Amino acid sequence: MRKVLLLGASGSIGSQTLDILLSDKAHFDLVGFSLGKRIERVPDILSSFPSVKDVCVQREEDYLSLKAKYPHLNWYFGDEGLKGIIDASDADMVVNALVGFSGMVPSVESLRHNKVLCLANKESLVVGGALIRSLLKEGKGKLYPIDSEHVAIAKLLSRVNRDEVDKILITASGGSFRDKSREELKEVTPAMALAHPTWSMGAKITIDSATMMNKGFEVLEAKWLFDFPLERTEILMHRESHVHSVLLMKDGTYLADVSVPDMHGPIAYALYETSVDFNLYPAKKLEDLGPYHFGKFDSERYPAPGLAMKAFNMGGNATAVLNAANEEAVYSFLDGKIPFLAIEDVVRKALDDIIITPSPNLDDLIMTDKQTREYVRRYVEERRSA
Ligand code: NAD
Ligand code: MG
Repeated sequence: MRKVLLLGASGSIGSQTLDILLSDKAHFDLVGFSLGKRIERVPDILSSFPSVKDVCVQREEDYLSLKAKYPHLNWYFGDEGLKGIIDASDADMVVNALVGFSGMVPSVESLRHNKVLCLANKESLVVGGALIRSLLKEGKGKLYPIDSEHVAIAKLLSRVNRDEVDKILITASGGSFRDKSREELKEVTPAMALAHPTWSMGAKITIDSATMMNKGFEVLEAKWLFDFPLERTEILMHRESHVHSVLLMKDGTYLADVSVPDMHGPIAYALYETSVDFNLYPAKKLEDLGPYHFGKFDSERYPAPGLAMKAFNMGGNATAVLNAANEEAVYSFLDGKIPFLAIEDVVRKALDDIIITPSPNLDDLIMTDKQTREYVRRYVEERRSA
């Protein structure tokens, strides 16, 4: 039996996690959860999971009204609340399905408390990969990724000798605008960007998929998770999102994890701590996997993964700058303040202009996140009034 604390329960990953927890109450006990502003979800979750003792919401006013309504539960709010609920919880597993930098401190806090961390919040690894790796090395906590590509890679690597792997190929659908030229991208709207061709996900990751910053993040995520050489980790365009990633072996064989695009599978692989059965299908040509489309990644059409690599190579807190600038730029685009193509410009400018701190600790990363956001907000306002 696993006692589970689910952070981000109202989101896309959070809701699908609840489905799995509900389907196997003999194995999972939900003891706590957090959600942001969609507090109308609270009564349903509480009635499905009477085992819940701790709940965190984002806003103080919601905290006050819910605490009055459900006085038998322990209530928390805000960023401090997320830290508090982890510190107080008797959960042995934390599922981090928060979006953006808001998931960073909860990831660190979970590992500091030696929890099993099922991590959808890839931004934690992008920003604090070095810190998370050292916590895993020094403590008793464990980490299982919840990202379809990384679950695929983990499954594949568990069945082969790593020395025989030539390349890791991370598949990419190309996002909402994959059939548009850069010229056509000048005119696109948030509503158009939010219509992903193969996956139904939260707004931020859907925009990250359209710019392909998401893929840049996933390359870094893979680096921190698997410690495989970055120069042998490549992006492979694949329209259908059925092939979740591929290993190219040194003997020329491709190994792939293939299934319909549905996050329940990757979430279950993490929640059951990898004890889920699966088969491998070796193929001599990628086309042997099925009537699927594969293509070369075009770094001029999609500059964002290059910016992620640049930040990684700059080292120190540069990936915190990358993440914060991207997050602010994405929300500015969604709010209609900047055009789609300016997302990349904002990230590039922030990386060019911000002072790099080598070997940052958690406080340094929090400070960089805050400063970068302030910087980007000023830059966005200047652009608008220019
Ligand atoms: P989402 O926007 O649907 O859900 C995010 C959750 O976090 C919600 O519960 C929201 O209320 C909560 N939240 C957001 N900001 C918060 C804050 N400041 N404080 C407290 N709570 C806050 O996002 P999602 O699509 O479920 O993605 C979650 C994470 O999983 C992201 O890091 C994303 O990159 C990753 N991921 C998602 C998918 C997917 O299919 N959706 C796939 C792979 C990885
Ligand atoms: Mg992914």
